[in-house]
Amino acid sequence: MNSTAPERGTDRNQREPMLLVSACLLGDPVRYDGKAKRLAHAGLHRLQSAGQIIAFCPEVAGGLPVPRAAAEIVGGDGAAVIAGSASVKTGNGEDVSACFVAGAERALALCRQYGIETALLTEGSPSCGSSRIYDGSFTRRSIAASGVTTALLRQHGIRVFNQQQVDAAIRSLARKAR
Ligand code: SF4
Repeated sequence: MNSTAPERGTDRNQREPMLLVSACLLGDPVRYDGKAKRLAHAGLHRLQSAGQIIAFCPEVAGGLPVPRAAAEIVGGDGAAVIAGSASVKTGNGEDVSACFVAGAERALALCRQYGIETALLTEGSPSCGSSRIYDGSFTRRSIAASGVTTALLRQHGIRVFNQQQVDAAIRSLARKAR
């Protein structure tokens, strides 16, 4: 599983809520093109220093390599992939749905393990997108929809934000702390 998690059982981690974050936003070069998508944000850095962040890449956790072929959801959205009525395909037509669903299930398992109720995931990704994803035509057109991991987390009550919503994600995290 591609994740970095703090040791469990410390007084701090029993008290403080954890945030699941797309590994590429934290600088891990795990994107399909072998690059990262590092997000600089003081609040995020503070959480990281406090051990309140778990970095996770669902596609790598689901068994896909780095680099890998770009993929898009064809015939629906992330929820439809989970339901089996849409699929995730590469530009060559290879069906990689099983890897995407496996990665989403691992993300959910991590959230359950650490009591995570908030996630900050990369917009636009067929796994991590939370408001827009590409439409399956491989022409860079996007639609209002979410990716596979986001859909599964939301189905289980986990709040998912994108990298333009870091402050909202941190406020959401604070709500749990009260
Ligand atoms: Fe980043 Fe998510 Fe894509 Fe992994 S699956 S590279 S965490 S956007």
